[in-house]
Amino acid sequence: TRVLLTGGSGFIAAHVLEILLQHGHSVVTTVRTEEKGNKILSAHSSYGKDQLDFVIVEDIAQEGAFDKAVVSDPPFEAVIHTASPFHFNVTDVQKQLLDPAIIGTTGVLRSIKKSAPSVKRVVITSSFASIIDAFKGNWPEHTYDESDWNPITKEQATDNPANGYRASKTFAERAAWDFIEQEKPNFSLATMCPPLVLGPIVHYLNSLEGLNTSNQRVRDIVQGKAKTEIPPTGTYIWVDVRDLALCHVLAMEKDQAANKRFFITAGYFSNKEIAEIVGKHYPQYKEGLPTSSTPGGDYPEGGLYKYNNERVRKVLGIEFRSLEESIVDTVKSLQAVGA
Ligand code: NDP
Repeated sequence: TRVLLTGGSGFIAAHVLEILLQHGHSVVTTVRTEEKGNKILSAHSSYGKDQLDFVIVEDIAQEGAFDKAVVSDPPFEAVIHTASPFHFNVTDVQKQLLDPAIIGTTGVLRSIKKSAPSVKRVVITSSFASIIDAFKGNWPEHTYDESDWNPITKEQATDNPANGYRASKTFAERAAWDFIEQEKPNFSLATMCPPLVLGPIVHYLNSLEGLNTSNQRVRDIVQGKAKTEIPPTGTYIWVDVRDLALCHVLAMEKDQAANKRFFITAGYFSNKEIAEIVGKHYPQYKEGLPTSSTPGGDYPEGGLYKYNNERVRKVLGIEFRSLEESIVDTVKSLQAVGA
């Protein structure tokens, strides 16, 4: 299959790219700069331009940003849209989070409908952020599944960056499903809703300082920042980036994934468990790690929401990696960039 992958320089997209190539697909990925595109190509120098190439899309929030990128020869049959801001370092929620997420999503769908009629499947990286009702807290009596939608409002979205990020994912995914319903395009949609994503970074695009948001807690633990107090875990469910990347590719390949939303989690984790795994496998960091009596980082005492990940296991046939394997490999990849 010939695939357009947006945001190929991202943490998750780098793994999606790897699996697409392994599965024999031909990939064009969008990046924001020539430099990032060239780094991706040189890390995959055994593939020809017909198997892997890039195009520049500088800012997905611009109207028509994808108009040129969706056109290719041979034409695309699938699009995987991962590009969207995931960080909390913003002063203007509307411009820096909501616009790129929402306009980026509706923009790519519009461009496909207009200029890429051969596309049959679109896969979008949404998030558990579009499922969770954060105002309910740990909500022990509730089981989250694909029928849940984050009820966040436009007004709440601009209250703070955390709300802004969750709203950006919620509104973008809703806009995608609305597009399918209203525009009845030639393609079907599948959305991926992972909670916290952990796992190895690809060394050729990364640095410890510029690390993607979801892995920063692992870096911080390794760097001794949880020694006297372990920070709160926040979201208590997770998935390994390689398992999530495989879900993206399977959701593109499998007919049965058409027009389905997938809640993709391997299960519970806590920051305390991450620190324990680091200590067990990397004794060189022991000095900076918390001990069994260090406060913080544990599960909430009153209990926690449950999760139902049956759909992704049944429809995509996924088996999830363990937290231990994921953390061991994450730390190994951080060492490759200087941890
Ligand atoms: P990264 O920050 O590594 O990747 C984000 C990607 O989006 C980068 O390629 C980035 O480009 C691109 N991007 C962001 N804003 C723009 C813009 N305005 N114009 C063009 N490109 C842009 O994060 P992840 O890989 O973690 O995130 C990928 C997707 O997964 C996002 O949609 C995120 O919401 C979702 N997700 C992530 C989770 C996680 O825990 N990691 C959990 C749930 C969902 P550049 O590198 O050039 O800045």
